[in-house]
Amino acid sequence: MVTGAASGIGRAIAHAFAVEGAEVAIADLNLPEAEAAAAEISQLTGTAALAVRTDVTDEESVDTCVERIIREFGSVDILVSNAGLQWISPIEQLEFADWKRILAVHLDGAFLTTRACLRHMYASGQGGSIIYMGSVHSKVASILKAPYVTAKHGILGLCRAVAKEGAPHGVRANVICPGFVRTPLVKRQIPEQAHVLGISEEDVVRKVMLKDTVDGEFTTVAEVAEAAVYLAAQKTLALTGQSLTLSHGWTME
Ligand code: NAD
Repeated sequence: MVTGAASGIGRAIAHAFAVEGAEVAIADLNLPEAEAAAAEISQLTGTAALAVRTDVTDEESVDTCVERIIREFGSVDILVSNAGLQWISPIEQLEFADWKRILAVHLDGAFLTTRACLRHMYASGQGGSIIYMGSVHSKVASILKAPYVTAKHGILGLCRAVAKEGAPHGVRANVICPGFVRTPLVKRQIPEQAHVLGISEEDVVRKVMLKDTVDGEFTTVAEVAEAAVYLAAQKTLALTGQSLTLSHGWTME
């Protein structure tokens, strides 16, 4: 089950898992795009892909989605909690509703999908792997992104709690922390940041987004998907409660 898989990073992860032979469920708010992604993935890989309209902030929607996956595929072995949103605003101008909306997608979404999948992973006795989409912003802050930075830091805490509670049931939990990836989420931010910071779009890319990378390069969806496959494929509990940063050297902790 990959949330937010109708677009960007989630879509690349769903595709990479299907290449490895996994049946994938594309759980996304945007059903037409989720259906397009599922059709493309099953056509390219010959593996079953299911599109399910899901709002990760809604308890009933998440539980219904996971039940449907169990009905169609028999189990849920890997959850990638990836659905996310960005919001650009200085803190003093931030609306409370926008703060809550960003926290809900990232944190409520991660909790609700985790809980629904854990119930099935525990009951099956087969364990499982949970992968959260964190960010470099799980480790460092940037201006104009307070709710996102807060939520992404919070994901590390949830991951570690799940790693501890899940271990006796054979469930692992890890976080992937990408640097900037050129997806619709980031493409939208470039003009927004240029406007708020009063600089050109080119300078947003060069002097803000990629300034501290070792090579001036964006992280790619393929690089993130490869890391997700690696984390999902681990056979023991050696690698759990960890975060893996893929940021072309932006941060090195
Ligand atoms: P994206 O905008 O391309 O895709 C996000 C997807 O999430 C969309 O398909 C959207 O419909 C879906 N979504 C949004 N709200 C939802 C909800 N309530 N329920 C279900 N689905 C919902 O973005 P992306 O760049 O691929 O981001 C994916 C994840 O990666 C996010 O968690 C993001 O924070 C994280 N991330 C992105 C970058 C980056 O630079 N792009 C860097 C680090 C982390």
